[in-house]
Amino acid sequence: MKVSSIVLLIQSSILLIVLLCNPVESSSGDRSSIFRHCINKCFKGCHLDKYPGKLPIYLTLFWWDCSDECKYQCMHNITQNDVRNNQPVKQYYGKWPFVRFLGIQEPASVLFSIFNAIGHLLGWRMFKSSVPNTDYSMYPVWKANLVVSLNAWFWSTVFHTRDLNWTEKMDYFCATSLVMFSFFACMLRFIGLENKWSCFLIGLLLCSIYCTHVFYLGFIHFDYGYNMKFNVTIGIINLISWLSWCLNYYKQQPYVWKCAFVSIGVFFLLGLELGDFPPILWTFDAHSLWHLGTSPLCYFWYSFLVDDAKYQLSMQKKRRKSG
Ligand SMILES: [Zn+2]
Repeated sequence: MKVSSIVLLIQSSILLIVLLCNPVESSSGDRSSIFRHCINKCFKGCHLDKYPGKLPIYLTLFWWDCSDECKYQCMHNITQNDVRNNQPVKQYYGKWPFVRFLGIQEPASVLFSIFNAIGHLLGWRMFKSSVPNTDYSMYPVWKANLVVSLNAWFWSTVFHTRDLNWTEKMDYFCATSLVMFSFFACMLRFIGLENKWSCFLIGLLLCSIYCTHVFYLGFIHFDYGYNMKFNVTIGIINLISWLSWCLNYYKQQPYVWKCAFVSIGVFFLLGLELGDFPPILWTFDAHSLWHLGTSPLCYFWYSFLVDDAKYQLSMQKKRRKSG
């Protein structure tokens, strides 16, 4: 397959994802009159200290209050009814009904976000033990990449533990920073760190784009549609950049297949989000499986970084000898 057709295939698939994944703030479940009636009745109990009563400490620890509890109980009561009557399961506030675990809203996504963080830590340990930090110029870049990744997976864990306005924003902003840093690292690999000014200017440009994006969403208007478009655009640019870098160098550096594998793997796993289905056992939904799928890719990514470092160091040695 030609490069142009691969790019076209990727772009059309991503466009399909954007069209199908129109983010929603409300869903058919929470708009239904039966749900409205249920929560209104329950809310009255909140003021009278009746049903749902005093919440256990593990719920209040994760910021559950009486009105949240009403929404949770009503959602599950109605869902049980729907299942019993062979009715389709409805979404509530843009999400499927999940069974919480000790106050954790989406336990599977939380666990799999932690898997990703562990994947990065294990990968970094492998990298650190095989690459000498004194000689390798990209070392600080990959170290910064580790910090950005761990930060993003930390906020993903927090957001899936408890979906609140600010945890959602932190998850989105940090996920964006992860993709933008990956693109920055790709540019550095293209240009070469020896061209300091070009690297600095690209870093400055990306940093200002990121800050403007976060400022707009955080302080002016939180627009789901715009945020999605921004992330998809950066995602496509990042994917195409890494894949073209791999295509440029795979002949003299055959190990770049690992990098291409990770890029294509992430892309196909993202397609999982298309098959949005009610959570299996009220726990495993498409989004949690996407987080599960990305965690083993950490191994291939860091294995690629080790090979790339060894290659660059050997080239450096050769240049020194001939120079
Ligand atoms: Zn997530």
